[in-house]
Amino acid sequence: MPDQPLRPRVVILGAGFGGLSVARGLAREPVEVLVVDRRNHHLFQPLLYQVATAAVSPADVAWPVRQIVGRQPNTQVVMADATGIDLARRVVATSAGEIPYDTLVVACGVSHSYWGQDGWAAHAPGLKTIDDATHVRTRILTAFERAEVEEDVAARRRLLTFVVVGGGPTGVEMAGAVAEVARDALARDFKRIDPRSARIILAEAGPRILPVFPEPLSAYAQRALERMGVEVLTGRRVTAVDAGGVRLDEEEIAAEVIIWGAGVAAPALIRALPGDHDRSGRVLVAPDLSLPGHPEVFVVGDAAQVVDAKGVAVPGVAPAAKQMGRHVARVLAARLAGSTAPPPFAYRHAGDLATIGRNAAVVRIGRVSLTGFLAWLFWSLAHIYFLIGMRNRLLVATHWAWIYLTRQRGARLITGEDAPRS
Ligand SMILES: Cc1cc2nc3c(=O)[nH]c(=O)nc-3n(C[C@H](O)[C@H](O)[C@H](O)COP(=O)(O)OP(=O)(O)OC[C@H]3O[C@@H](n4cnc5c(N)ncnc54)[C@H](O)[C@@H]3O)c2cc1C
Repeated sequence: MPDQPLRPRVVILGAGFGGLSVARGLAREPVEVLVVDRRNHHLFQPLLYQVATAAVSPADVAWPVRQIVGRQPNTQVVMADATGIDLARRVVATSAGEIPYDTLVVACGVSHSYWGQDGWAAHAPGLKTIDDATHVRTRILTAFERAEVEEDVAARRRLLTFVVVGGGPTGVEMAGAVAEVARDALARDFKRIDPRSARIILAEAGPRILPVFPEPLSAYAQRALERMGVEVLTGRRVTAVDAGGVRLDEEEIAAEVIIWGAGVAAPALIRALPGDHDRSGRVLVAPDLSLPGHPEVFVVGDAAQVVDAKGVAVPGVAPAAKQMGRHVARVLAARLAGSTAPPPFAYRHAGDLATIGRNAAVVRIGRVSLTGFLAWLFWSLAHIYFLIGMRNRLLVATHWAWIYLTRQRGARLITGEDAPRS
């Protein structure tokens, strides 16, 4: 454990979008910064579904935390799992021992919510980490391999049925990408099965997919998915999930691969904090993003429930987490300098983007809506721009260019404990 510092210590829990922007914002401040994360890498979650569908490799969307902030003279990185926060003693309990703080920034994000049915998680993995993405990739690719050697027609049909739950951007992107894997990347690789015959279902409980987008863009996305062969089932709630498949309302669908993209829940660390919490367990923070009653503790990013100075409920997206992180760094800098605190946090919404597949995406920026190729190009350029590091930008751009030209996906590896054994 690092020695006790002479300068005030700011401990940041989580090296996601929120935590890293706090750390970067404090680079020149007279504080000791300690970034604690259970993983050694920062992950660009918006492109995780591309790892799950073999478009890019894990290292293309992740970057070592030490390389991002570990070289700041005032910043140390500790790889450890935070297990508890003792607000009275001002220490964080971690797998590497207790870490005392003067100021604490909790930026540990959220995890999946299975609506209280945690047993579904084993059969319907979600996407949150690199391990999740490679696990889903293995399940998808293994389903085709097993179908190739399956004699029974019904069992083969089940192996070639894929259900994505949740019609938000992640679900839409995932369903479109699975369709491209089946219809393009694998189309000519098997002798006994036709991967193009795979059944791909996107199930959404609400009346339309992409509910944060205006209605015409949702309708466009649904049409685009259907053109790709995805069955979009709206107004259909998942009522059961098991090893055999999924039940949507009363209909049983036998499916080998179910991918969960519906809902988030705050982790126990956040739920244990005092104060008000929303239904997902996210903690309500004060206008400066501190924990009410604890000016020395801040919560930023997905784990925070924020209604900003303009009365806007801040969404759980990467730009919001970054803006919150920058805001907390400004609040702390003002405190250190003894100057006036910055005005309350105000969120600036840059827009909403979601891609569906080749040449198909939806973009909403202010009053401007884009669909089709232009939206897809915009989505692609924006995601390359926001990736960390020139290496990752070049690699992802090259992979995408290759896929665009050849319709082939290079990262089709079946790996890990889920891979079938002889
Ligand atoms: C599949 C997917 C697709 C998405 N697509 C988009 C998109 O297209 N556009 C968009 O704007 N947003 C998207 N998001 C949302 C976006 O990724 C989040 O809003 C953003 O990551 C939130 O940042 P954060 O810093 O709050 O948390 P995170 O980025 O989740 O980072 C949390 C960090 O805390 C660490 N951590 C957690 N618990 C502990 C612990 N107990 N101890 C130590 N470390 C811990 C984690 O390892 C992680 O590094 C997507 C999210 C997912 C999952």
